[in-house]
Amino acid sequence: MPLTLTAIRRRAQDLGFNFCGVTPAEPSPTLAAYLRWIQQGMQGDMRYMARTDRVRRRRDLREILPKAKSLILVGLDYYARYAEDEVLEDPARGRIAAYAWGLDYHRVLELRLEQFAEWLAEEAGREIAQKVYVDTGAILERSHAQQAGMGFIGKNTMLIHPRRGSYFFIGEILSSLEFDDYDEPHRESMCGTCTRCLGACPTDAFPAPFVLDSRLCISYHTIENKGWIDRDLRGQFGNWIFGCDICQDVCPFQRFAEETDEVAFLPFDLDRVAPKLTDILMSNDDTFRAMFRRTPVERIKRERLVRNACVAAGNWRNEVAIPHLIQLLYDESALVRGHAAWALWRTMELDSAKLLTDLHRREDDARVRGEVEALLG
Ligand code: SF4
Ligand code: SF4
Repeated sequence: MPLTLTAIRRRAQDLGFNFCGVTPAEPSPTLAAYLRWIQQGMQGDMRYMARTDRVRRRRDLREILPKAKSLILVGLDYYARYAEDEVLEDPARGRIAAYAWGLDYHRVLELRLEQFAEWLAEEAGREIAQKVYVDTGAILERSHAQQAGMGFIGKNTMLIHPRRGSYFFIGEILSSLEFDDYDEPHRESMCGTCTRCLGACPTDAFPAPFVLDSRLCISYHTIENKGWIDRDLRGQFGNWIFGCDICQDVCPFQRFAEETDEVAFLPFDLDRVAPKLTDILMSNDDTFRAMFRRTPVERIKRERLVRNACVAAGNWRNEVAIPHLIQLLYDESALVRGHAAWALWRTMELDSAKLLTDLHRREDDARVRGEVEALLG
């Protein structure tokens, strides 16, 4: 019996996915816009995105899987109401984007997609070629998901399901299976005249609707940027220390977001959601690992999270942070020393001049010296 969309949807549901869609493995309709985005350098330091082999694979899915005929995409909700806004927005706490509150989603989705792929092969009754992806392949998955009827792409560049918002993970199976029918593409956009997300972005990271300049985005800087955070941007980061949800939170479609019933994505304490900044500033490699083991935060390691916490402390401007920031002027990481110097300057202003002059005198790293010179300049 041929595999039907109904059977596929039922299996997706049995595996715990919240929704799914099937589309032919054709080039993504947003490919041209993506190539323009790369040409303009808006991917920042995510250089892998501009690599020729990845661009080639994005152009033609058969570069990934020569027999590719279809894409089976799934969505899994991760939204949880764990803490009140006043706790999340407390400047004494460092805020973590909602997708990272639970366990690392890659493994959770991959395991189920592998089971899904096995079932597809059994149902097909013959050998088929398949590849499972969660966020890692050169696939423009939001665009393909729109083609598979799973939602529209909002002006905030997220895939939005009109009845569940955008707080869900996407995964996919690229397959050599061909189907008799496919899901209808979703309407291209349902944003209408709304511009809430564009106006709410604290760093003005949208040069135009549907275009996000990563180089200006808090999410990019706190997660992907391995180096120094642009001094002119730091003051707009508020208390975000890992990611940013603002342009999703303000979206009117978000009111339909369903709370996840996926235990793996539920945080088990406030430290996974909005830890105290002082705890992060004082952390060492061991305490960092203990706090964030097996969560998406683990990937950026202690150095970058402390860098981000210094930025948040510079926005908090509270004397409680001062002793911790002074201690961080002696951290083994130049990145941390430089950002701690900025936070001290923001907190103590001219009263930090002696501390910063001393740092400048003993400092070997040219970038840290440059930071201090700019502050005292
Ligand atoms: Fe702006 Fe935050 Fe959205 Fe990035 S994630 S575009 S910083 S609102
Ligand atoms: Fe579209 Fe408004 Fe949502 Fe932005 S906030 S994605 S403009 S509906």
